[in-house]
Amino acid sequence: MKFCSHCAAPISIKIPEDDSRERHVCDSCGSIHYFNPRNVVGSIPVFGKQVLLCRRAIEPRHGYWTLPAGFMELGESTSVGATRETKEEAGSIVEIGSLYSPLNVPHAEQVRLFYLATMTSPDFQAGEESLEVALFDEQDIPWSEIAFSTVKQTLEWFFTDRAAGVFDSGLEFGVRGREILPTEKI
Ligand SMILES: [Zn+2]
Repeated sequence: MKFCSHCAAPISIKIPEDDSRERHVCDSCGSIHYFNPRNVVGSIPVFGKQVLLCRRAIEPRHGYWTLPAGFMELGESTSVGATRETKEEAGSIVEIGSLYSPLNVPHAEQVRLFYLATMTSPDFQAGEESLEVALFDEQDIPWSEIAFSTVKQTLEWFFTDRAAGVFDSGLEFGVRGREILPTEKI
């Protein structure tokens, strides 16, 4: 940000009074413009034993496989955003379940949240941001072509927990989550 979004005057980077961090401060009207991490919300859409993945039609990681996910919009909840992204990118209507994997990615200034989700039908189709969409059995997951470590981590946890019967037990299960290190592909 170079200019104030309120009055169009130049912005300076400085620590405001009563603050401890550098902020974008307007030289003219004094407005302080805050920047905070963005939420990426997505789902793990399941039909029977299979998981739905999308092959990305956009950068970054064009051509690689991912779970449907995208930036949360103003005015929606995280689960509504995850449901919307699943419809937009994969053409799949899901019944959204529990929050499963909140992943912090400080170096990308993002928090990524994946929800368990059950496809209400086997119908799906590639949205504008996907080259193709497909259902995968666990043994066919293209592990070397997964777009992001957050997605790879979520899928690894999911298959481990499913094999352990965690989702069928009817018991509360622990939300999986961790911080992605700068050395990992986001
Ligand atoms: Zn201003």
